[in-house]
Amino acid sequence: MFENLSDRLGSVFDRLTKQGALSEDDVKTALREVRVALLEADVSLPVARDFIKAVQEKATGQAVTKSITPGQQVVKIVHDELKHVLSGDEDPGKLKIDNPPAPILMVGLQGGGKTTTTAKIAKRLKEREGKRVLMASLDVNRPAAMEQLQILGNQIGVDTLPIVKGEDPVAIAKRAKTQASLGGYDVYMLDTAGRLSIDEELMAQVEAVRDVANPRETLLVVDGLTGQDAVHTAENFDERIGITGVVLTRMDGDGRGGAALSMRAVTGKPIRFVGLGEKMDALETFEPDRIAGRILGMGDIVALVEKAQQTLEVEQAERMMKRFQKGQFNMNDLKMQLEQMMKMGGMEGMLAMMPGAQKMQKQMGEAGIDDRMLRQQVALINSMTKKERANPQILQASRKKRIAAGAGMEVSDLNKLLKMQRQMSDMMKKMGKMGKGGMLKQAMK
Ligand code: GDP
Repeated sequence: MFENLSDRLGSVFDRLTKQGALSEDDVKTALREVRVALLEADVSLPVARDFIKAVQEKATGQAVTKSITPGQQVVKIVHDELKHVLSGDEDPGKLKIDNPPAPILMVGLQGGGKTTTTAKIAKRLKEREGKRVLMASLDVNRPAAMEQLQILGNQIGVDTLPIVKGEDPVAIAKRAKTQASLGGYDVYMLDTAGRLSIDEELMAQVEAVRDVANPRETLLVVDGLTGQDAVHTAENFDERIGITGVVLTRMDGDGRGGAALSMRAVTGKPIRFVGLGEKMDALETFEPDRIAGRILGMGDIVALVEKAQQTLEVEQAERMMKRFQKGQFNMNDLKMQLEQMMKMGGMEGMLAMMPGAQKMQKQMGEAGIDDRMLRQQVALINSMTKKERANPQILQASRKKRIAAGAGMEVSDLNKLLKMQRQMSDMMKKMGKMGKGGMLKQAMK
């Protein structure tokens, strides 16, 4: 997510923070570069312009240029402004689903990820809020779409409305409503048909369904990679149907990410969730603070910790966080992390959330680290003694040979693992110094 933008901003700010004193011209030059970076990321022009203006006003005052760390101050102002631009609802992940059965209408263009997102949200409501959810596909044009939802439903253990051939979308919506009431469901989700582009027939159909269902939430699902097109789609849907929020999908790709920044400012509608992959867990609530941090390449320890909590015992998570806060990170921690990664859907999802992850991801890619490697690495750690795991730096050449052989691997593999542990340990130390402890604690509440 936001890789290119992060890279660009990173290099601007690197220069800025390395300079001791900053003149107003330095700041102006840097902000010009920020503006270009935003436009290249496909942020709409008025949004980019207003953004720079707001930052400029705050950053060119005496307080910044005369402060001891002017570069950092500018970064902070940019961060806060990013957060401001991204801000929508207080709690974007909280859907209005009181008064059961609450209808949620899912709309969007074909291929945007609507069906996948419907199932992801259903799973989330079931698992996090204990809701009984019924899903119904209204895509009568594509029988495969109906089956797709059914398959996903089976996979996540959420009911789908039985498919009746020949029924029109309005009739299906009515049947879903009846079934949801009779069946005691808390929520029913209507996955409408998409089209390749916005057309009258599509809109009329969605409108008719909306009037029957009277949805509490109407979520537009759009492909985040389409940049300003996504924003235009949202404008169109909102005008005609009235949406309560947006889900941006494919934010796991290295797309330009500008849609996220322009969406709220242009449409006035909040982004509620972002899709981060094809798997059913790859959905996150859209937290402006966190996203701003990610855009600035500061990684995202909060998301990491939150996700870890879902799969980790709370005690274990607490222990892990205490150690992180102290900047401790030995082989036991690494092993726990590797095992977590396997549970959490592999390297990519996990790494995308870690501080300095983009660099790490490159390094890992170069080192040929993938999911198979995860298992091998755990095997390597398993062949170390307790003492060695706690203090991997004590390993001598002879022991390295034994350990590698024990796990059926080469010493060079072990060296890679040791390097990774050192890098992660360094990162944790840095994080500790950055005072992220407060954030970690908050995440535990
Ligand atoms: P629909 O036509 O809008 O219902 O789109 P689908 O739900 O069928 O999704 C189209 C394709 O996009 C499928 O292959 C999904 O697995 C994929 N997809 C959906 N959301 C995401 C996402 O957040 N990230 C990635 N990488 N793929 C996604």
